[in-house]
Amino acid sequence: MSPIVAVVGVGGLGCPAALALAEAGVALRLIDEDSVERSNLHRQVLFTDADVGRRKVEAARDALARIAPGARVEARAEHLVPESAEELLRGVSAIVEGSDNLPTKFLTADAAAGLRVPVVHGACVAWHGTVLPVSWGDGACYRCVFEELPDEEMTNCAIAGVYGPVTSVIGALMAADALRLLRGDRSTAGNLARYDGWRQTFRSTRFPRRSACPLCGDR
Ligand SMILES: [Zn+2]
Repeated sequence: MSPIVAVVGVGGLGCPAALALAEAGVALRLIDEDSVERSNLHRQVLFTDADVGRRKVEAARDALARIAPGARVEARAEHLVPESAEELLRGVSAIVEGSDNLPTKFLTADAAAGLRVPVVHGACVAWHGTVLPVSWGDGACYRCVFEELPDEEMTNCAIAGVYGPVTSVIGALMAADALRLLRGDRSTAGNLARYDGWRQTFRSTRFPRRSACPLCGDR
């Protein structure tokens, strides 16, 4: 059976990641309950003006069918919540998480740990983007690096804005990491890559597994 990759969040990161993965012949499960808004169009490369108001997963599935004929795409217009996360993510070979909010990022990390599925986390704010590929047992996971969900309302893409070219760079990097993990190459797992689109810098820092991590630690 060919691998399926779940794409959590079909926005500025999920669109370019899904496009690259579909073009590579990977089957996709798109998970997002939101609809396309006009203000999204500059960075959500699968959508056009005619898609405004449609469910993102359905508009993305139709766009991928046009661009990559034969692409196998399952559209799940649902929000990832603790009660549904494992059911939505079960059966996939890897997860690409490009949501725009921290609760969904932590929830995806927790569900991926429960299922022992590798996951690539991506995030963007303004001109900055990060990518963290996680393979359980090789290097850090999301909670090794970021530990706990902060109490205060954190800055996110919706508040601070984000530049379209930066999300496309990060989405493509996420797809590349997912393809590497699908091939069984864990050499980048636990590397937090940081791209600064304003200064044109790219840094990658390896984080070790944290022994006190609630997801992958020693306890
Ligand atoms: Zn961990």
